[in-house]
Amino acid sequence: MSILSNHESNMHQILREFPSPKVPRDDKGRVVSRICPKCDVGILQYEGDRIWRCNGLADRENTEQELIACDYTFEHGTNHPRSMSSEKIKVLFLDVDGVLNGCYTRERAPGGCTGVEPAKCAIIRRIVAETGCKIVLSSTWRRFSKNLPYLWKSLGLDELDNSLGQSPILDGRLESGLYTSPQRGHEIQAWLDKHPEVSRFVIVDDDSDMAHLKPHLVQTDGRTGITDEIANKIIEGLNV
Ligand SMILES: [Mg+2]
Repeated sequence: MSILSNHESNMHQILREFPSPKVPRDDKGRVVSRICPKCDVGILQYEGDRIWRCNGLADRENTEQELIACDYTFEHGTNHPRSMSSEKIKVLFLDVDGVLNGCYTRERAPGGCTGVEPAKCAIIRRIVAETGCKIVLSSTWRRFSKNLPYLWKSLGLDELDNSLGQSPILDGRLESGLYTSPQRGHEIQAWLDKHPEVSRFVIVDDDSDMAHLKPHLVQTDGRTGITDEIANKIIEGLNV
């Protein structure tokens, strides 16, 4: 056996013993799809204590009227050697429109809405490379699961390795029938409440409805999206 194949063999051994905590695996250590096996539309999000839960608010036809309620939960494989809650991680809450695109963008996502700019995606890759952060989607793109494969492909990042899911959608409805929508900051806080392992986080968004989390916001100009200067601020915020 060559040195290289010995090395590869050792790496495989290590990977078997220490499967990534960011990827849902069954009790045999096999990677499980993040697409919910029950509703086949929602995306499994890590809740801590080895529990993954379907986000339950997937949109089957890109119409907000057809949100699917699903409460499927999945327990991470029992061969997992450590609790994710003991691992300190950095998170970038990522908005898409007004961050990865601007008013000049001609790219189109599969659903026909405005797509993302390759140059802006490259800036996100630089942030990930320089900080080791994980991405949590806080954009309205959470509602359009059909567009997410396009988004991750455009970002040039493997979703399973680089994402910890999405902030929850906390729309409500009053007795009068009126729909309510909380500030985005409250949805981000709801995600943070379930992830005590997060040590630092930055929110990048062109909107400012972050409630008490505004000090964590690095705001873009929605007409131009993220720039290198803004990326430097984010990196600084994550690497303090
Ligand atoms: Mg936006």
